[in-house]
Amino acid sequence: MPQKDPEHIIDYINRKTYKDPKNEFWKHYSKRNKTYHVDNSVFYCVNCDSMWSKVPKYIDSLLWRIYPKGHIPSFNKKRKKCPNCRSIDGRT
Ligand SMILES: [Zn+2]
Repeated sequence: MPQKDPEHIIDYINRKTYKDPKNEFWKHYSKRNKTYHVDNSVFYCVNCDSMWSKVPKYIDSLLWRIYPKGHIPSFNKKRKKCPNCRSIDGRT
């Protein structure tokens, strides 16, 4: 028995791919992409004049890493002592 009013394929695709703004999943997805900034996780150490950032454990077991000088501009970055300088200050 054939269907009375079969849905058109274009209607079906529209219905399946429509990003409902009320849907929680899409809200979360777009928010997550917007709020990620690398600038917020990279810091400039005034003491040793270098850029450093916290990194995941699979990149460095120390959980932080210093970048080579001249690779990242220090403009607009937060001033924060790197863990290396902090540990030297703690010892002396
Ligand atoms: Zn430092």
